[in-house]
Amino acid sequence: MVIAGVAVMRVQVAVDKSLALRQVMYRMRYDGDIHDRGERALVLLSGGIDSATCLYWAKSKGYDVHALTLNYYNRWVKEIEATRLIAREADTRLIELDIPFVKEAFDIYGYREYRDGDMRWSSYIPSKNLLFYSIAAHLAEYMRVRWIVGGHNRDDTLFFTDTRREYIDGINRLFRQGFMLNEPAEIVTPLLDLSKVDVIRLALHLGVPLEHTWSCHTRAERHCGRCHGCRSRKDVFNAIGIMDTVEYEQ
Ligand SMILES: [Zn+2]
Repeated sequence: MVIAGVAVMRVQVAVDKSLALRQVMYRMRYDGDIHDRGERALVLLSGGIDSATCLYWAKSKGYDVHALTLNYYNRWVKEIEATRLIAREADTRLIELDIPFVKEAFDIYGYREYRDGDMRWSSYIPSKNLLFYSIAAHLAEYMRVRWIVGGHNRDDTLFFTDTRREYIDGINRLFRQGFMLNEPAEIVTPLLDLSKVDVIRLALHLGVPLEHTWSCHTRAERHCGRCHGCRSRKDVFNAIGIMDTVEYEQ
């Protein structure tokens, strides 16, 4: 009985400690900083500036960082190459999965169907983040991932409603209800309050290899310089006053 009592006490102490730690973690997370080093993070990596910045952010936090990239239908090879280059440069394990049933609006409608002439529609994927985070969650349970890191910035939220905080919070709520093997993973979005200009500043601070990133929405060998992705990238680099080392067609 004494042994059992000691065992119960030890369990209770462990539970208390765990709860206290979680409460501290909760506060830190919403203060924009996480100090608990050594936990595993899975970063959704697309080859763009935002996700590359998230990868380096997660590394700077000391996590055991893995990257996940999802090859949806007809994903442009330059984007895939960029993803692989960034992961290699960051010395991070990259999990690459093919999901050919997931298509961009471009694949269905082509360029002629832009709504109100808004070029961003070309890269829209219905339910993209619900799908991507669900796949990440599936892996996360087996991999004991604590943090799933998504690279949405403040400007994204103006157009892609599935990047907004309430949407991500909704997915996190489902994770908490659905995880059975391990403690639920949680999506964190460190760039969500940052503008594109702020993201580049953070990227420069973290040493992100921006020259390897891919921002173009067309299927060009080099950045086309004309699409929404390219124009937005050019604007941001011009605003900061630094030279972009990627090559543009124009
Ligand atoms: Zn372009």
